Amino acid sequence: MTSTSPAPAARTAHATHSARATVHGYPRQGPTRELKRAVEGYWKGTVTAEALRTAAADLRAANWRQLAGAGVHEVPTGDFSYYDHVLDTSVMVGAIPARHRAAVEADPMDGLFAMARGNQRVAPLEMTKWFDTNYHYLVPELGPDTVFTADSAKQVAELREALALGHAARPVLVGPVSYLLLAKAAPGVDPDFEPLTLLDRLLPVYAEVLADLRAAGAEWVQLDEPALVQDRTAGELAAAVRAYGGGGDTGGGDTDATGGLGALTDRPKLLVASYFDRLGEALPVLAEAPVEGLALDFTGPAIANLHDLAALGGLPGKRLVAGVVDGRNVWINDLEQSLSTLGTLLGLADRVDVAPSCSLLHVPLDVDAEHDIDPEIARWLAFARQKTAEAVTLSRGLSLGSEAIAAELAANRADLASRAGSALTNDPGVRSRTAAVTGADLRRSRPYPERTREQRARLGLPLLPTTTIGSFPQTTELRTARADLAAGRIDTAVYDERIGSEIREVLSFQEKAGIDVLVHGEPERSDMVQYFAERLTGFLATRQGWVQSYGTRYVRPPVLAGDVSRPEPMTVRWTTYAQSLTDRPVKGMLTGPVTMLAWSFVRDDQPLGDTARQVALALRDEVRDLEAAGTPVIQVDEPALRETLPLRAAGRAAYLDWATEAFRLATGGAAAATQIHTHMCYAEFGDIVGAIKDLDADVISLEAARSHMRVADELAAAGYPREVGPGVYDIHSPRVPPADEVAALLRKGLEAVPAERLWVNPDCGLKTRDWTEVRASLENVVAAAREVRESLPVADGPAGESSGGPTGGAAGN
Ligand code: GLN
Ligand code: ZN
Repeated sequence: MTSTSPAPAARTAHATHSARATVHGYPRQGPTRELKRAVEGYWKGTVTAEALRTAAADLRAANWRQLAGAGVHEVPTGDFSYYDHVLDTSVMVGAIPARHRAAVEADPMDGLFAMARGNQRVAPLEMTKWFDTNYHYLVPELGPDTVFTADSAKQVAELREALALGHAARPVLVGPVSYLLLAKAAPGVDPDFEPLTLLDRLLPVYAEVLADLRAAGAEWVQLDEPALVQDRTAGELAAAVRAYGGGGDTGGGDTDATGGLGALTDRPKLLVASYFDRLGEALPVLAEAPVEGLALDFTGPAIANLHDLAALGGLPGKRLVAGVVDGRNVWINDLEQSLSTLGTLLGLADRVDVAPSCSLLHVPLDVDAEHDIDPEIARWLAFARQKTAEAVTLSRGLSLGSEAIAAELAANRADLASRAGSALTNDPGVRSRTAAVTGADLRRSRPYPERTREQRARLGLPLLPTTTIGSFPQTTELRTARADLAAGRIDTAVYDERIGSEIREVLSFQEKAGIDVLVHGEPERSDMVQYFAERLTGFLATRQGWVQSYGTRYVRPPVLAGDVSRPEPMTVRWTTYAQSLTDRPVKGMLTGPVTMLAWSFVRDDQPLGDTARQVALALRDEVRDLEAAGTPVIQVDEPALRETLPLRAAGRAAYLDWATEAFRLATGGAAAATQIHTHMCYAEFGDIVGAIKDLDADVISLEAARSHMRVADELAAAGYPREVGPGVYDIHSPRVPPADEVAALLRKGLEAVPAERLWVNPDCGLKTRDWTEVRASLENVVAAAREVRESLPVADGPAGESSGGPTGGAAGN
């Protein structure tokens, strides 16, 4: 590789370079979620297809107008979606599962929604998280028989729309390698089938789409390849070489095949985009590919791209779109620092443009829509509109020199100083307390074998104790009461009475059903993170800060802006109220520190581990207060523990360290006789089984019903030494599991986990289900537990010790 001249500093950025600003994608929903209303109206039949199409076109036009008005030179097209852009890509390449084909042929729009949501007759595509974001995409289903066919209609139409409105536009597509890496084997296909083997079949379809886009007037087309920022095998990197062309010395062997998309003659210029982390081993592959541009992320840990790029000798002859503005968090950029990064990059590519690091889909639309946020804090925030403006400002600074943006730089400096010096981000009480945490705070006072003896004596539970995960159905009455309270139609006293009466009902049902460890049902919580965020100092709520989670579901994550403390107990009142209604143990219910962070916008001005520690200390106080109020069992939910795992293996150990430390800090102060539960709602926890052990919870409940208790085997195989409740009731389905089916699952569980350590519970909370299903299902669960319990051999050892089972006696700490 050639070496480049030393990088010029930002302030010497020469006036001859003309940098431009762009974005990879923009929020789709509109200022007040117009898209959600239009799509849901269409589903209900109150909005016609024509009206939906018009609403969508209006939203696209408004976005482009906003972007162009802000100074964005090239607007993205094709990033819009009625539901999900990966689903749109499946349509674009003709990867429509056989079961959806009739629907798609009858009506493309209804067919699209059938793929997304299923209908009476057909199941939808599976949905899963888009990398480590909270956006969910529909997983392409592929198999050895998949035949791809090009359908460029949506991409071409949206490009034409933008061009007709007078914008310079760049279609954005999911790239072929990422598309295949995001796909999975279709149902009925060998689960080991690797979709990437279809690459040679897929590339001609992309070639056709590219030719169509060129014919429609595209100068550039962006191909998003975020999957290349993950750890990739030599074979996968070789696939990237085949996709884009180039020599690509990846050690992956055969790379000569087609010459890739880069070698096509009838095509627009190609910009291959990556984001969410550094490209690592894939960087040289893309740098050598015969494409005209790369977009790279330079935020957070992805700043490693800067060094990697310099070491490689830059991108001579290529356009670099530099993602220096964090596209997935809500904080203002440090403009001076970005300008300095950009100045360095100027020496490393032919042309440098400025952009947010990824699509702005992952942040809310506009800070100016927030009227309730303290203006002193609002100035620290940047949503999609503000991030776009930052990219434009930086492009001007890069082109014209920092003097040209002196006013913006001064304002930015003041905003950053306001944040750094604020009492909200520097609470001395919180700071000194986190600094004083010692190793002893992270450990329960006694090891599990001793704790479990005390807990058994205190709780007096039968073998195979039954419990639930926390929430009971969120009824319309509850939702109405919450809305009435928010709108001032009822006062707190009336609202509290409704909550109290719901709790009485939940308790009386559980007693009648014969459940052993009861819950209060969480009727006072609309959301497990928001409820705590509203009660902790340091978190802010937004009014319009909607972010797409999937389809028409939008969430408003809290903003974790400052140091976290707990002004007063958060859950003690309703938990003790519930306990006052029954002689059976009631389980207190908290959301764990990792999940509190994962489902919020977190601070970027300190390590995540420090923020987690602050949340953990607040929860630790809550645990102490619950205990003091007589709560014998406390569950700390961590459903987000696994999804927050860093994309690259290199970052995982450090993450798991702070994550488990935070959980242990939250729960380590509990007395030996207080039983600590945790809950995680997924069955694939292989990557974190070590961390699950390290949490040192007394009991863990997990999802298992669909996978036929495989998790019990996996945990046992890993030597999991404590109590486990693999779910025996699939709460994702309205189906009521018959008692004999639950009993069979329990017997399966007993093959792996001894009876002394096996719990009986549903897969997850019941809040999305109806009371009728929940009643019948839990009655069956209790009946099954009784039946299996009665068939157990009578244990003769002291309580707490194993009486057998394949992993019996493994108890330890
Ligand atoms: N306790 C919560 C509930 O039951 C747990 C939810 C979750 O795991 N996502 O709803
Ligand atoms: Zn769950």
